[in-house]
Amino acid sequence: MTTSPMPTADADSFAYLGSATHPGFARAPAPVSMVRPGTAPDGARFAVAGVAWDGAVTNRPGARFGPEAIRRASHMLCDATHPVFDVAPTGQLVDYGDLALPNTALEAMRTALMPAARELIARHHMLWLGGDHSITLPLLRAYRAQAGRPLALVHFDAHCDTWTDHFGEASGHGTWVYEALQEGLVEPGLVTQIGLRSSGVRAARDYVRDQGGVIHTARDLRGRENEEQLGAVIEGLRARLRAAGDVPVYLSLDIDCLDPAFAPGTGTPEPGGMTSAQVLTLLEAWADLNWIGMDLCEVAPPYDHAELTASAAAVFVWTYLCGRIARGA
Ligand code: MN
Ligand code: MN
Repeated sequence: MTTSPMPTADADSFAYLGSATHPGFARAPAPVSMVRPGTAPDGARFAVAGVAWDGAVTNRPGARFGPEAIRRASHMLCDATHPVFDVAPTGQLVDYGDLALPNTALEAMRTALMPAARELIARHHMLWLGGDHSITLPLLRAYRAQAGRPLALVHFDAHCDTWTDHFGEASGHGTWVYEALQEGLVEPGLVTQIGLRSSGVRAARDYVRDQGGVIHTARDLRGRENEEQLGAVIEGLRARLRAAGDVPVYLSLDIDCLDPAFAPGTGTPEPGGMTSAQVLTLLEAWADLNWIGMDLCEVAPPYDHAELTASAAAVFVWTYLCGRIARGA
């Protein structure tokens, strides 16, 4: 079999795709197998790949430009040594650039992404840069297949993403959690949603809780920012995971979990959201969980100001990555 993770032949298909020959996330190099085709797959422990897709948004498009904006913002991390974990990803991280995927048809994109994801997650601990949130469903399918069991899920978002109807269509960026539960990709009692606050009927809003999972709304979290104040949230997840055994945990972080003051550059902003510090407190405290991968979605640079949103995204990905290096098994 070929070792190329690219579902289509030409990585230069679309002008907006970030190329692996440009500086990668935190200035990570491209994998050796892309620089010199025919050589063995790269052995780096961690890898970044962009899924520059925004064909399933319900409001403002632009998340296809997210991966490159996050990479560019990550370059201000300089030596990338993390102040909490005191490690840098240097030498352990490669960046595949943005995958060349079909860019207008949701099912065609997902059909192409799933096998590419399977190949990459077999090789590396992956950090996926979105893209709108519809990319997470095929990623979860790939992780579920790899793990051989339903996963635990930690999902930061302003939105529940458990709608059963996407404005007349069955699937989009607001249905993937519902679909993941229906497909048995995630363990219902091990789904945790954080930051929810958008409008939505109760059946959708509380769907995860009704299935046995946990929801911490943005309102629940008001005024709680440091590790002590968030202790019940931190320990609650830890205890549920401990009780379930060593279940692999996937992190999906929709940047609109943040208040638009911190992340204006997103397609569906919702006032009254989380602070950057709230998210960082949780990511730092949970660094030693049994993470198997993460995605960061919905950064839409056309609506950003001063790269605030892309910078927050870069710091979240970097914090997860350095936490893995420092605390991961
Ligand atoms: Mn979302
Ligand atoms: Mn959202």
